[in-house]
Amino acid sequence: MSATIIDGKAVAAEIREGLKCEVSSFAETYGRVPGLAVVIVGEDPASRTYVNNKKKGCAELGMYSEEHSLPDTTTQCELVELVNKLNCDPKIDGILVQLPLPKHIDADAVISTIDPMKDVDGFHPVSVGNLMIGRPCLKSCTPAGIMELIRRSGQDLTGKQAVVVGRSNIVGKPVSLLLLEKHATVTICHSRTKDLAEACRRADVLVAAVGKAKLIKGDWIKPGAVVIDVGTNKVEGSKKLVGDVDFDEAVEVAGWITPVPGGVGPMTITMLMSNTLKAAKAIQECRK
Ligand code: NAP
Repeated sequence: MSATIIDGKAVAAEIREGLKCEVSSFAETYGRVPGLAVVIVGEDPASRTYVNNKKKGCAELGMYSEEHSLPDTTTQCELVELVNKLNCDPKIDGILVQLPLPKHIDADAVISTIDPMKDVDGFHPVSVGNLMIGRPCLKSCTPAGIMELIRRSGQDLTGKQAVVVGRSNIVGKPVSLLLLEKHATVTICHSRTKDLAEACRRADVLVAAVGKAKLIKGDWIKPGAVVIDVGTNKVEGSKKLVGDVDFDEAVEVAGWITPVPGGVGPMTITMLMSNTLKAAKAIQECRK
């Protein structure tokens, strides 16, 4: 039997409709719209595409956005100075510094300069710490999107075995904490995990965030499992993207599965918009 496809594009579109209404009622209440500042250093083509999509996302929802495009000769001091200015700018509720930064800049130091109230990427150590201890915070966008997709599968995570393949700071670790918060029993796997296939076979919910095309095979999947494929891997010699899961095999075994493209990807920017609105609301509360 074929799995139900969790259509990230459709879910993202539905959430964006709701956000659009919320943005307009925010504007009516406060006489301004939520604002996002996107900072890009250098001309990495992938980063350029992401930044354009983020600006487009803001425009579609009626949010304000501004781009700060800096040359790759920018010093760390200059970048920190810009972030400090944005921290104090009343039009700006969210600050996103597009990664990767050029090698001469310490990304951690720059991210630590962002006001945690404006940390819409959820990468600031204060946001990460709050996530760890279960306090309200701006949650990083891809993990938040993954949780929303799992929620849409209708599965109660309580007591379920969740297996996350990948332990990066931007996906693997934060999504593991979010799954734990929902009372799943979480296993985190990585490149040194022994018998990855066996670990995956135990998963009621499997999240693959590796960056290795079709690493996870159909016979690694527990029948009926929820499979969330975060991977975006380019196929050599084509513009096609494939996930970390062998979709054609997995779709025959899983209960629910996200496609690549059209699964997790569309959710990431949507969660960024959602975080910008949340940040704007929290900032307005503080100004009362
Ligand atoms: P990353 O920082 O490179 O981390 C990859 C993780 O996978 C690491 O923890 C690594 O283990 C683990 N790994 C590598 N090879 C493995 C193997 N053979 N078996 C088991 N684990 C293995 O990547 P990331 O930033 O988390 O991204 C992962 C994927 O998601 C990429 O394809 C990326 O493009 C995609 N992504 C998509 C979105 C989206 O919005 N759609 C957002 C973010 C990322 P070690 O820690 O031991 O090295």
